[in-house]
Amino acid sequence: MSENLYDVAIIGGGPAGLTAGLYTSRANLKTLLVERMIMGGQVMTTTKVENYPGFPGGIDGPDLMMRFQEHCQEFGLKVDYGEVENLVDEGAEKVLTVDGKKVRARAVIITTGAEPRKLDIPGEKEFTGRGVSYCATCDGAFFRNVPVAIVGGGDTAAEEALFLTRFASKVYLIHRRDKLRATSILQDRLAANEKIEILWNTTVERAEGDPSGLQAAQIRNVQSGEMRSLSLQGLFVAIGVVPKAHFLAEILKLDDEGYILTDAECRTSLPGVFAAGDVRKKILKQIATAVGDGAVAAIMAEKYLEDLES
Ligand code: NAP
Repeated sequence: MSENLYDVAIIGGGPAGLTAGLYTSRANLKTLLVERMIMGGQVMTTTKVENYPGFPGGIDGPDLMMRFQEHCQEFGLKVDYGEVENLVDEGAEKVLTVDGKKVRARAVIITTGAEPRKLDIPGEKEFTGRGVSYCATCDGAFFRNVPVAIVGGGDTAAEEALFLTRFASKVYLIHRRDKLRATSILQDRLAANEKIEILWNTTVERAEGDPSGLQAAQIRNVQSGEMRSLSLQGLFVAIGVVPKAHFLAEILKLDDEGYILTDAECRTSLPGVFAAGDVRKKILKQIATAVGDGAVAAIMAEKYLEDLES
């Protein structure tokens, strides 16, 4: 095997990628994990993880992901940083372009995950980093004793609204419908928190401010059509995620939303290429399911390589 040829290349260093890396390294497969920015994926922006088994009382997201990395290091997983630009199929070998350089691997596991969806409203881009944020855990502490809002009705919006009450004077949760998607335990906590006010059937139409930063959001009641200005210093957006698979659109089958289509064993439409975690089309996106996917993809990659050899 040439120096530059890996048995397995893993793209993405979140829970799915690190689990896949743990399994393939432990199976003595020459593995390279390529991460674009920060190891740990979306969990790095989570304050407390309460539903990953084995941690009664919960564990901070970054602490959990540090443990994942340490565990991988025990088995010698090699990690490189860079952006994978494309993937070319040469049959028994796949070629990745990472920041212009070629990396060859006999099997590839894609665990690129997903990134926050944008509201796509006037002022959003202009005030990003100056009031508009996609990560309450990262930026919440900048908003002490001022009113903020979070947009969305899922688990992320609910968890982040609760987190923001540690700092902000008031937290509006703005949701486009009259029913939240968030689990009932989180809904109960929202209802019990005096700092939180839910604005039902409401959308944000515009982010407004001045050179010092965001000052207000124009909001609309979708039932009455009434528009009003809400005074705010922070506008957090938690309206779901979009998969990071666009660079693979020409080589793999994706669904209409851009998720990679796989079978139950994490095989994509291209033999030798597997997908695991939030980038894969599936019902439940959790750390526990990403970990399960990562293990399945790794074992399937190992089996694929054995079949290639025989
Ligand atoms: P999500 O469950 O997809 O919820 C997205 C929310 O944003 C929905 O309430 C949706 O409204 C709203 N929304 C979508 N597009 C919008 C738009 N353009 N304008 C306004 N609102 C919009 O996303 P998530 O909360 O980020 O969660 C993603 C996945 O991670 C879920 O499977 C979730 O269970 C999981 N997660 C789990 C935990 C946990 O277990 N502790 C924590 C965080 C996330 P509608 O309801 O009207 O569609």
